[in-house]
Amino acid sequence: MTTMRCVVVREHGGFDKLRLEERPVPTPLPGQVRVRMQAVGLNHLDTWVRRGVPGHTFPLPLVTSSDGCGVVDALGAGVTGLAAGDPVVVLPGVSCGACEACQQGQDNLCRSYHILGESCDGTAAEFVCVPAANVAPKPRALSAQEAASICLVFQTAWHMLVRRVELHAGETVLVHAGLSGVGSAAVQIANVLGAQVIATAGGAEKCAKVKALGAHHVIDHRTQDVAATVRALTGKAGVQVVFEHVGAQTFDTSLKVLQRGGRLVTCGATTGGNVSLSLHAVFFKSLSILGSTMGQKGDLRQILRLFDQGRFRPVLDRALPLAQVGDAHRLLEERQALGKLVLTL
Ligand SMILES: [Zn+2]
Repeated sequence: MTTMRCVVVREHGGFDKLRLEERPVPTPLPGQVRVRMQAVGLNHLDTWVRRGVPGHTFPLPLVTSSDGCGVVDALGAGVTGLAAGDPVVVLPGVSCGACEACQQGQDNLCRSYHILGESCDGTAAEFVCVPAANVAPKPRALSAQEAASICLVFQTAWHMLVRRVELHAGETVLVHAGLSGVGSAAVQIANVLGAQVIATAGGAEKCAKVKALGAHHVIDHRTQDVAATVRALTGKAGVQVVFEHVGAQTFDTSLKVLQRGGRLVTCGATTGGNVSLSLHAVFFKSLSILGSTMGQKGDLRQILRLFDQGRFRPVLDRALPLAQVGDAHRLLEERQALGKLVLTL
């Protein structure tokens, strides 16, 4: 095979801007491995790349998507420890490996950090070449489709809860949108850390699924007042930690339910990034507001081990063929998915 199919965004816009294109099969450079992809995981980030973000320039054209699973197919010069045929997941953050941040293990703070499918070509292709550091063994218990759905959201949620807010056993955390990608990861991670988990979801079906992931209480934000319910559940005390990624629609509630000394951590703003904030509340309540992007590759390897041990499980809604990438974006944007969406090759 000399050519392959891939999903390319050449200009921002609607679902029709997701073009299925033919390209030559890439040759791995020194230090790279080529992966024959079996499944590609979608994230909200994919929809931002397609739609565009005001004030941000993406290096178009871009092959989309950050997550994936496949089989090592060819090795570039100098690669050791991997062999053709190895089943692997693709790790979505590419860093230089040589700077101070990288050498401290904080590769997500590398000044030349790239996210596959966001600032360099991504995983939505039949063959993908990435640095050897960007593949890890596929957890044995997971199918290729399941394994393709976990890396970006779990490393993001892990970094937020473990590295940024240092969530402890016995603390209470509010997780917004507990069945979303990062939300469903956060519910499981907080549970493994021994925290009390209050999560939100829209509608009875989603609430039941979030409960099954290990949330101790689930609030239906369509029918219940989230702030009042959190207060009732915590004996008016509020929570120590809020896990934010929704943004404008939930931020007031997030600040309101934090107790004194509380920590809020945010990795996204799917409903808008401009919020108002009372500094009085921040200093009177001694609040910490923390930002977080992606996570550390070393932590991601630990997360994959926890999948191997059965402590975490993927939350997959459905798999669609690569050519139906537009349908997958629509399901994501309309919040119809009951879990992660995956494209198959
Ligand atoms: Zn670096």
